[in-house]
Amino acid sequence: MLRKIEHLGIAVESIEESLKIYEALLGTSCYKIESVESEFVKTAFLQVGESKIELLEATNPDSAIGKFLSKKGKGIHHIAFDVEDIEDEIRRLTAEGFELIHTSPKDGADNKLIAFLHPKSTDGVLVELCQEKNGSSKS
Ligand code: ZN
Repeated sequence: MLRKIEHLGIAVESIEESLKIYEALLGTSCYKIESVESEFVKTAFLQVGESKIELLEATNPDSAIGKFLSKKGKGIHHIAFDVEDIEDEIRRLTAEGFELIHTSPKDGADNKLIAFLHPKSTDGVLVELCQEKNGSSKS
């Protein structure tokens, strides 16, 4: 079961520049900046109620975010849902006929296990599943 929208991922050209906008917009400060070197991406997180905004900056133009920015420009990149057991959800969604980009969970930013669904099986929206690494994800 997908429990809530954990975060929205937004592709930006510069986290430093975009944080000024999002911190002013949301009236809160970024609580974490983290690089995911395997994905060539730098991330920044802001809390909004029960959900988060994740800003994504490419550290390499050939990365997924780099390619997204050059094709589509800045903007909403993915929607991430909180799940209790990511392996169960991967099995369930595969059985439902969804195409998964990651068929087993991988390490993501912000202490999460993650897996992405291919947007061609989700009506054009890139969907991320994420599970808090220490079990419960009551955040
Ligand atoms: Zn994300």
